[in-house]
Amino acid sequence: MDSESTVTTCYRHPKVECHVRCVRCERYICPDCMREAAVGHQCPDCVKEGARSVRQARTLVGGRVSRVPVVTYVLIAVSVLVYLAEVAKPEIVDRFAMVGAGLLGPDGDHYLWVDPYPGASARRGWWTGSGTGC
Ligand SMILES: [Zn+2]
Ligand SMILES: [Zn+2]
Repeated sequence: MDSESTVTTCYRHPKVECHVRCVRCERYICPDCMREAAVGHQCPDCVKEGARSVRQARTLVGGRVSRVPVVTYVLIAVSVLVYLAEVAKPEIVDRFAMVGAGLLGPDGDHYLWVDPYPGASARRGWWTGSGTGC
């Protein structure tokens, strides 16, 4: 029993009993001081140091971020433009829909303004002029 009676306390709060150790410096930390890390818990000091090293690592691998496909941005831009056009003038979307149909591949779902089911667009009411939308 003697070996288990040893009380460990937080290195920042000597009066607080705790049983969790920082995974980096192995000092005991109380629930108030422990910060969740990827593995186990860390003390505030190590979290600060960790943040610094993470920032350095990010700089090293920064090249990866710039390799986002341009196509994605184009698709997003087109989608936004079409959405705005739909709000402003339904007729424009009708024209866009025909252009989009010509560009469609097997994965046509990317083109938000093209309904995969022919004739289904009628139920949206924007090209029949029924005005069921707004
Ligand atoms: Zn630590
Ligand atoms: Zn503490």
